[in-house]
Amino acid sequence: MSQVPGTNPWITHFTTCIEEERFHERWTLNFNYNLQAELTVQKRAEGWKIYKTSSFGKFTCNVCSNSWSSARAIILFHYRLTKKSGLVLLRPFRQQCRECMNPRLHKPQVDSTQMNQVFDRLISKILKNCYKFPDVDDKVRDLIPRKTKPHETAYCEACRLGICSF
Ligand SMILES: [Zn+2]
Ligand SMILES: [Zn+2]
Repeated sequence: MSQVPGTNPWITHFTTCIEEERFHERWTLNFNYNLQAELTVQKRAEGWKIYKTSSFGKFTCNVCSNSWSSARAIILFHYRLTKKSGLVLLRPFRQQCRECMNPRLHKPQVDSTQMNQVFDRLISKILKNCYKFPDVDDKVRDLIPRKTKPHETAYCEACRLGICSF
């Protein structure tokens, strides 16, 4: 995956996808690795919405250089539209290496195609929940299972928080 220095692929893909919608409000994407799996009553009252999805991701261990693929790279979003702007918070869940079992957690690398699909799904939620667009057919957009090794819950950050199964 090529990456321009100083940019993050999540941010650049999000910017491209969201600009196609030509919303009046400016939407921004930020990372937040402490994002919670549920919205608190207060967050809900403040207008926050939640969207959780999964994608095909690659992981590389920088301790033993093992790498693996997973169809369950879990991605969690909180998003909100206020009068002037929209904000999306992103938490990609990490996985632990099952080869060296070092407790360090590794971030998923998601390719452009998969990332665009993730943002397509997110934006259809934004259209529905923030702009009252009629329901978009979710079923077509559902995850197509890919063949990977059996998911090992012990090594998955999302499983530990109980949000991995859909
Ligand atoms: Zn390792
Ligand atoms: Zn899991």
